[in-house]
Amino acid sequence: MKYYQLSIEDVPLSEFLFREAGESKTNLRFRKLYLDLVCTRCRKLDEIAALRRGIDLDVSFKFARDIMMSSDDQVIVSARFRDMVQSVAPDEIEFYEIPSNCALSVAIPKILISPAEKDDAFNITGKCGLCGRYTEATWGAGIPKIPADCNIVAYRLETHVGMLARWEVNERVAHILKHSRPKLKGLILRAR
Ligand SMILES: [Zn+2]
Repeated sequence: MKYYQLSIEDVPLSEFLFREAGESKTNLRFRKLYLDLVCTRCRKLDEIAALRRGIDLDVSFKFARDIMMSSDDQVIVSARFRDMVQSVAPDEIEFYEIPSNCALSVAIPKILISPAEKDDAFNITGKCGLCGRYTEATWGAGIPKIPADCNIVAYRLETHVGMLARWEVNERVAHILKHSRPKLKGLILRAR
């Protein structure tokens, strides 16, 4: 089956989920709630453990889109997007509610594939000797392999900010998302 890369339109002003302004206001630090989830060597946060713990009450997004990125590269979706995805691919995505606005949630596909070091679909640099995370994992020249019979998967890329889940959806899901009316705001789908 044909797959589509899902990407998201940029928004001028987003918010951080896991970070807040430090005392000097010019630097950012992880919220106190998550400090024990930060690797003491590479200083990356375990984002999934943080989401399971919950999102701070003062994190709020003011936007009128169905899908967008937080400033720390997590995918935020509207209730409409969530309901639509739940009906076409039930139980394939984990949703973490944003308490200040229950219509929004952070969304992460349950099939989250870590790039293999020798796979030419990825460029990998550095690996933490303590938590095992890559310093960076970005797209390479090759085409990533998608497990058979998946509606939605994500590749777990890495940047200096942290985890960056890049979604792929199959043709059936792409067709439904693309043709929803009114259009889903913020969504970009490109055939592989
Ligand atoms: Zn580490």
